[in-house]
Amino acid sequence: MSEPLPDRMQAVVVHGPEDYRLEEKDVPRPGPGEMLLRVEAVGVCASDLKCYHGAAKFWGDEHREPYVQVGRSPGHEFVGEVVAGDEEAFAHHRVAIGDRVACEQIVPCEECRYCRRGQYWMCGPHDMFGFKNFDGAMAEYVLVPIRARVHQVSKQLEPHHAAFAEPLSCALHAVERANISFEDTVVVAGCGPIGLGLILGAREKNPMNLIALDLDDDKLALGKACGADLTINIREEDAVARIKELTDGYGADVYLEGTGHPSAVGQGLNLLRKLGTYVEYSVFGSDVTVDWSIISDDKELDVLGAHLGPHCWPAAIKMLEDGKVPVEQICTHQFALADFQQALDLVGDTSGASVKVSLLPGRRG
Ligand SMILES: [Zn+2]
Ligand SMILES: [Zn+2]
Repeated sequence: MSEPLPDRMQAVVVHGPEDYRLEEKDVPRPGPGEMLLRVEAVGVCASDLKCYHGAAKFWGDEHREPYVQVGRSPGHEFVGEVVAGDEEAFAHHRVAIGDRVACEQIVPCEECRYCRRGQYWMCGPHDMFGFKNFDGAMAEYVLVPIRARVHQVSKQLEPHHAAFAEPLSCALHAVERANISFEDTVVVAGCGPIGLGLILGAREKNPMNLIALDLDDDKLALGKACGADLTINIREEDAVARIKELTDGYGADVYLEGTGHPSAVGQGLNLLRKLGTYVEYSVFGSDVTVDWSIISDDKELDVLGAHLGPHCWPAAIKMLEDGKVPVEQICTHQFALADFQQALDLVGDTSGASVKVSLLPGRRG
């Protein structure tokens, strides 16, 4: 049973770097095993902005294939209401018409070596909503293939708050990589959407001391609201010296990097103690150069990467539903679909005007 669907919808369409357009498109009709969502909210990610500005990670260079496709609608941080589909899809995803769901950004192939081992977030083909082979949610409707990973989310939440499940799940995965102990001093670099998620996740692990770093006092206040015990403005204070002072000269046990700024890498290596753990979540716009002998000879560090939010979506959604996330403060700006350019420009504004910017496709501009 489905509600009558309109024939046409508005959607943002990628034409090239710095050339995204609002267009009319046919509303997709779900085929066998597919469902259709009416998009309620979609977050604008830093990766969306990097893609918009033509970053090689998305558009390709001599080392990599292009990852974004012209003609596609972006948007991978979304929640929507199930409005159409067949019994196969509903049974597979365990949802019904009218439910609110979030989909993981990756659409795993379920056939490659990684997928077969349950390591679906490293899927070889790496199809993803909004980038590769599936349209994203910067549109009034989005099609959900059977291979998507779907999670129900409470309708009690504001839609743009619910859509924060995506960045939060990513941050929780990075926190899991760090294997935090009660005795640890944990340092989080950056109080943007990912950094705040890192703080929220690390708080749940209850380390002895949780320290947030940023350049902006308002962001640091948000870091505190997310559970940081202490904040350091690295514009005003030497973070390495301060953290050594707080740890009897040893340094931090764990460093979670969520800024994407090259200088945050050396900073982390320098403020960690010997045998410490460094977790990198960020995507960098350029190569980063550091003294690798800090990792080997000096400190024998564990340096770990983190990508996406595997097995962390239920926890992220629970934290949101339990009211543990100060979403009112994190989700600072919401725009209609027609105002997507303003939303992108605001995410790109480095003056610290916004934290999480979202589009609400149901809202008229
Ligand atoms: Zn994202
Ligand atoms: Zn795969």
